[in-house]
Amino acid sequence: MSKLQLGTRAVHAGEFGIEGAVTMPIFQCATFQYEDVESYDAVRYSRLNNTPSHLSLVEKLCAISQAEAGLVTSSGMAAIMLALTGLFDNGDHLLVQKDLYGGTFAAVTNDLPRFGIEVDFLPDDPSLWDGLIRPNTRGAYFEAIANPIMSVPNLQAAVAFAQRHNLISMIDNTFASPVNFRPCEFGFDLSLHSATKYLNGHSDTVAGAVLGREDLIRTLGPRLNITGATLDPHACFLVQRGLKTLSLRVHQQNQSALALARLLDSHANVRSVSYPGLETDSSHQNARVFDGYGGMLAFEAMDAAAAKHFCSSLELGIEAPSLGGIETLVTRPATTSHKAMTPEERHSLGISDSMVRVSVGIEDTEDLLRDFEQALG
Ligand code: PLP
Repeated sequence: MSKLQLGTRAVHAGEFGIEGAVTMPIFQCATFQYEDVESYDAVRYSRLNNTPSHLSLVEKLCAISQAEAGLVTSSGMAAIMLALTGLFDNGDHLLVQKDLYGGTFAAVTNDLPRFGIEVDFLPDDPSLWDGLIRPNTRGAYFEAIANPIMSVPNLQAAVAFAQRHNLISMIDNTFASPVNFRPCEFGFDLSLHSATKYLNGHSDTVAGAVLGREDLIRTLGPRLNITGATLDPHACFLVQRGLKTLSLRVHQQNQSALALARLLDSHANVRSVSYPGLETDSSHQNARVFDGYGGMLAFEAMDAAAAKHFCSSLELGIEAPSLGGIETLVTRPATTSHKAMTPEERHSLGISDSMVRVSVGIEDTEDLLRDFEQALG
């Protein structure tokens, strides 16, 4: 399987051919007959994440991501919290990228300290990172493309830093998807996903995944079982089905996002565009390790009213949270995902009232360009 291209692996890996079924059926079943009544390890029960639905999905995800092992969880946040609370203990210190998804930012600032885990934020400049190491520093946490400003950290420096200090390195790869970036191949210990987004790809289920080093996944398995954050068999099926078209979808989204970013970049009614695929973007150099630049972009309209007008004037794009699905979605972070922050906090993260974030879908590129043109006008 590993000699095949990613798109082929996405179709064929983890399809067990049970009873000749061409696609993996849904094992809508909480418990299974004992194979060995003497051994607890032989218990198959949905919460223990070891039913055929879980095993086949994990096999497909590992094949796509070139990861040694994996676990699927009930949401992306469940995957992130499992990794953060399952591998670090009271008294440990973590170094964390500054620009983070809001849920992760809340978890590392509010929740990890409750477990006695100390957190410091990494500045953008990797030459300053060594100075933050303490005797109890055990992990480093990154996001491949940060939400919503689309910044990409220096990923080579991140891996080298973690290896130099013997830290567990983890990265949220949700925005890039394994089509554009495979963290485990690149040297990260763990790759985390909100599978709700590109992996499932159809905005119809919530799921998460932790993929990477087998010894770490072996530690996390029993902890996932205890938290009970298991993925339901029907959701396993939906993610498994979505994954088969991951490569096709993401290639189309990469292409349309680049075309839209170029349109926006040259438009008189747009102040600035953040898309790592633009040669002029401040993250372009760091993003050159990717195979593609992704389907997410953000731009600054002329003012907040213009941003609002743009979103409500789109005919194809839908104003809704979340991302990575087949339909184009737009949000204004200042009034939605980052509304709870003060304007000053938003400003320090580069989020203005006139920012629009776009999750580009798989509609035909020409139709999206036309829709954006008319909404900008
Ligand atoms: N990571 C990133 C980058 C996200 O954007 C999100 C949700 O938007 C999450 C994690 C959390 O995922 P979920 O909503 O599946 O828990």
